[in-house]
Parts: sequence; structure tokens; C-alpha cells
Amino acid sequence: MLGRKIHVVFTGAPGCGKGTQARILTEKIDIPHLSTGEILRAEIKKATPQGLQLKELLDKGNLATDEMIIDIVSCRIDEPDCKDGFILDGFPRTCPQAEAMQKMFAEKNIKLDAVIEIQVPDEIIMERILGRYACMKCGQGYHDKFLKPKVYGVCDKCGGTDFYRRIDDNRETVQNRLVNYRALTYPTIPYFENQGLLRTVDGTSTIEAVSKKIDEVLGIDK
Ligand code: AMP
Repeated sequence: MLGRKIHVVFTGAPGCGKGTQARILTEKIDIPHLSTGEILRAEIKKATPQGLQLKELLDKGNLATDEMIIDIVSCRIDEPDCKDGFILDGFPRTCPQAEAMQKMFAEKNIKLDAVIEIQVPDEIIMERILGRYACMKCGQGYHDKFLKPKVYGVCDKCGGTDFYRRIDDNRETVQNRLVNYRALTYPTIPYFENQGLLRTVDGTSTIEAVSKKIDEVLGIDK
């Protein structure tokens, strides 16, 4: 544990590495990693009517509604495991979500420490997303070119041998996700910058180097 509460938002284009970095950080300081994408994918798996509607949106690279996401996040951060802090990954993704988050945090007496933007140019993003896959059992991420398991077909972390690729990690959907990022999510960057909360990190170096930079930015000495 860090010895202090920490509340951080990871933002950036799809494929910038925010999920990977959020996972590394939460393992280091033992607080929950709240990925709204993961929460929605779990709902889709349940095949509820809401899940089926979500599947249509996510498969095309479109966003879920602000109301639904805000409600999901508000309920999730009230759970006991979030009492010492949390990392939000993929939320807020629109200006109304950003404003609702600030209001929600004020009501719940939560202090936002930082919004970390991981910057990666579009040409690198496509290659990163199209090559990525993850362990079915523990969720550990890999890449065809940049991060292969030490033993072919076996997860380094849990020994699992089944892997999956996300349905929305295809060229056409990624292009739409990037368009949505520019139009809807990018405008949240100046919003947080104006509040003095934005910390921008270059996401083009190695996973370890980006992680080290994030630790420095957050004052984590490990
Ligand atoms: P991610 O795992 O963060 O790439 O998210 C996967 C997909 O889930 C996105 O392309 C959106 O369709 C949806 N999603 C995740 N987070 C949000 C959010 N905050 N607002 C709206 N849709 C979201």
C-alpha cells in the first residue's frame, strides 16, 4: 500500500497503453483497476437485453450512453474495495462524463490526484491494437510482435493456454474508435488541463519506461 489514498484517471487514444499501465500500477499499489470497457464486456457476456444492446455499440466502436456509464462508475466506486483509492481506465470519455465525474467526486468527498494522458501517434496505434491479445484466464495482455509469452502459447503469469482477441480490435472498428476519440474524448484534455490535473506521458517507449514515468509523475517511489 502507498500509505495515502490515490484517485487517478488514465486517458488517451485506444491502444495507447492505458489498460496495460493501469494494470501495472494497481498491482503495485493494490487498489482496484476500474476499466469501463471491461465492465461493459462483462455485461455483454451475460447476454442480458442491455448486454445485447451494448454489443452492437461496442462491436462498431461506438460509445455507450453517458447516463449508463456515469451510473455504472458511481455504483462501482461506492464498493468497499475502492475505499483506499482506484484507477479509472477509459472513463471519462466525453465532456459530460468529465463534468459528471467531478460532481460525483465532490459529493462523495473524493479528491482526484491526476489525469494521466498517454500520448501515442495514430500510426503506431493501429499496429499495436491489431497485434494485441490476452490470456483468457487472467487477462494478461500480449502482442504478436512486441510482447510475446516467454513460452509459446503459455501465459507467463498464470500458465493459461487459452487466449483471445477483442472483437473491436479490427481495422475498421479501430478507425471509428479513433474518430470518436478525437471528437468526443480529446476535448476532455483541455478541460482537465485548465484544472491543473493533466499530466502527459509519452507512450511510445517501452512498457517499463512508461510505467517508470507514471510512477514519477504520481510520486510513487517503488
Ligand atoms: P476500452 O476497453 O476502454 O477500449 O473500451 C471498449 C469500448 O467500451 C469502447 O470502444 C466503448 O464502446 C465502450 N466504453 C468504454 N468506456 C466507455 C465510456 N466511458 N463511455 C462510453 N463508452 C465506453
